[in-house]
Amino acid sequence: MFNQVIGHQKNIELLQNILRTNKIAAAYLFAGPPNIGKEFVAINFAKALNCLEGSVRHFPYADACDKCLSCRKIDDGNHPDVRIIRPEGAWMKIDQIRLLQRQISRRPLEGRYKVYILTDVERMNLPAANSFLKTLEEPPGASVLILLTSNYNALLPTIRSRCQLIRFFPIPKTVLQNQLIEKLKVTETKAKQITLLSGGRVGKALELAKEEYIDAESTIPDILNRPQIIEIFKIAEELNNQPETLDILLTWLRDMLLVKQGCNIEFLTYPDKFNELTQLASGYSRIQIQDFMKTIMETKNLLQRNINSTLALEVMVLKMISP
Ligand SMILES: [Zn+2]
Repeated sequence: MFNQVIGHQKNIELLQNILRTNKIAAAYLFAGPPNIGKEFVAINFAKALNCLEGSVRHFPYADACDKCLSCRKIDDGNHPDVRIIRPEGAWMKIDQIRLLQRQISRRPLEGRYKVYILTDVERMNLPAANSFLKTLEEPPGASVLILLTSNYNALLPTIRSRCQLIRFFPIPKTVLQNQLIEKLKVTETKAKQITLLSGGRVGKALELAKEEYIDAESTIPDILNRPQIIEIFKIAEELNNQPETLDILLTWLRDMLLVKQGCNIEFLTYPDKFNELTQLASGYSRIQIQDFMKTIMETKNLLQRNINSTLALEVMVLKMISP
């Protein structure tokens, strides 16, 4: 159901209006940063398009019931008319598009619409994109294509112009925080934490909400407790298993800097740790803390580039304990 979606209220209203007025376009393009909830909205739209409750009550139902056979099959990923197509490896290839074209040209088997959700369409290679254009030019009846992209500008203009564009934006912090409390029943402190770490990306926030380590966020990261050389491999390994801890580490360092500068307690991420922070901060100079932060950011960059992660983390830990 659309009320399961966190944020994106305007887009949901738009989609519900499309459903109510039955003005379904052949192709939509959901554009916005990665991990922001585009796919979840797309799945809900696919469910609403095919929901059996919708056909009993007739429009304007404009939502998914999440209970009927169709909704349940889509949730389980085994509805014959609804498919999610992701790039295979680095690229979405022409074979995948050809398969889609063969399938989509047939009439829906069970639902009202065949709905194909294509993720990361910026990774469609040129032959695939050219072939896909044909489908966009002459979309088969009773089919809806939902293209998802985090890089709108990388798409062929001809693809962009044939889809109805719906833009997705990061969720404002207060909205995300409140909805995490309301919908996921997390505590206010945890919601605040998750919001900060997720940068307004719902997918990231949901991932973080599931993690247990975030509950342990209020223990001082080992690395700041002046570890012995012998512990560095253990610390690096832990960071390797949970790279998100690097973000938590950054928030601790940020708090330490703020404390050092005599900042008001309300600006801290861990206001209840004021005393520990003051003590920790007294052991380092401002420059050292800034250098730590720089080292962590550099390491995060390296990790994103698939560098040998254990090695990169060990080097980082070493730099931090022997500055
Ligand atoms: Zn349903």
